[in-house]
Amino acid sequence: MKRVAILGSTGSVGTQALQLIAERRAAFAVAGIAAWRSGDALLEQIGAFRPAAACLVEGSGRPRECHPDTAWFEGSDGILAMLEAARPDLVLNAITGAAGLPASEWALRHRVPLALANKESLVMAGEYLMGLARDTGTPILPVDSEHCAIFQCLRSSNRGEVKRVVLTGSGGPFRQRALETFADITPAEALRHPTWNMGPRITVGSATMMNKAFEVVEAHWLFDLAEDQIEVVIHPQSIVHSMVEFVDGNILAQLGVPDMRVPILYCLSYPERTPFDFEAFDFARFRELGFEPADPRRYPAIELGYEVLRTRGDSGAVLNAADEVLTTLFLQGKVTFPAIVDTVAAVLHRHEPKGIACLADVLAADRRTRSIATALAGASTVARQ
Ligand code: MG
Repeated sequence: MKRVAILGSTGSVGTQALQLIAERRAAFAVAGIAAWRSGDALLEQIGAFRPAAACLVEGSGRPRECHPDTAWFEGSDGILAMLEAARPDLVLNAITGAAGLPASEWALRHRVPLALANKESLVMAGEYLMGLARDTGTPILPVDSEHCAIFQCLRSSNRGEVKRVVLTGSGGPFRQRALETFADITPAEALRHPTWNMGPRITVGSATMMNKAFEVVEAHWLFDLAEDQIEVVIHPQSIVHSMVEFVDGNILAQLGVPDMRVPILYCLSYPERTPFDFEAFDFARFRELGFEPADPRRYPAIELGYEVLRTRGDSGAVLNAADEVLTTLFLQGKVTFPAIVDTVAAVLHRHEPKGIACLADVLAADRRTRSIATALAGASTVARQ
């Protein structure tokens, strides 16, 4: 029986993980859960799974409906207190954004295997977290579908045999949209992803392809790859989730229909494989798999990931914080779609990278960047009107 803590339990990855666990009660139990503000949904999950501990970050007092056996925590520090109380065998970190970083550190520091859906942890503090994972001998299992694909392709090889990895991306909803109409893109249009069903932040990130920039950084840290060993290719069908090319000319790819339950279950079960009642792959439906280079005029965000690899230090934290601010402003209708990447790039270009010695350095860069990005976005809105 594996006891799992699920962080971000009411979000897209969290609810799918709980569904998978509910169908496999003999193999998994929920040790702890944490949600941000969906208190009612969290209480329902507590009733269904009876975790030892739960946390509602924006909670205000233990609700009457909370099961008496479940210890109750609140606030962002409450997530770590919940983990202490739950003592899980595996942490699934599916929190969105910078808020997920402390829990990733907690897991590695306590030698608890980390199933990582919060890619921002590695974008912000990849060097630091990978060092911690190495020092404590704790595995990081990537839930991100591309990285889960690469992880699987690499299972029986050593790093010296890898020539490069190819990260695929669907190209998002605006792959064929006329470039001169990008300023008219509405939040509703950006939230309509053609192949994957995900939360709002990552869906907007898939439209700008900032998500792919993050994945370049994530791949660099997870698999110890140099900048020129990571390539991004557009693959509209989202069937090939990523590929690894080896020094002898062999290329391994991992395929499947886009369904996050597959990488989630893989990470929950690792190192074993658990049966999953999936629909047989329909070759008649996917007669053609297409690949095309990523056009830098359409997807200027991707280059920012490579820039972070060159500049290092706290620049990943800057990239993430600026993108979080701009994505929120876009969803609120306060900046245009092109302003997201324009402003994030401006913030990153102005930034002078500083080294990271501890988590506090990362969080300081995160805070500073939020005010810089907000100020700069304000200026660019005025300029665009
Ligand atoms: Mg991904």
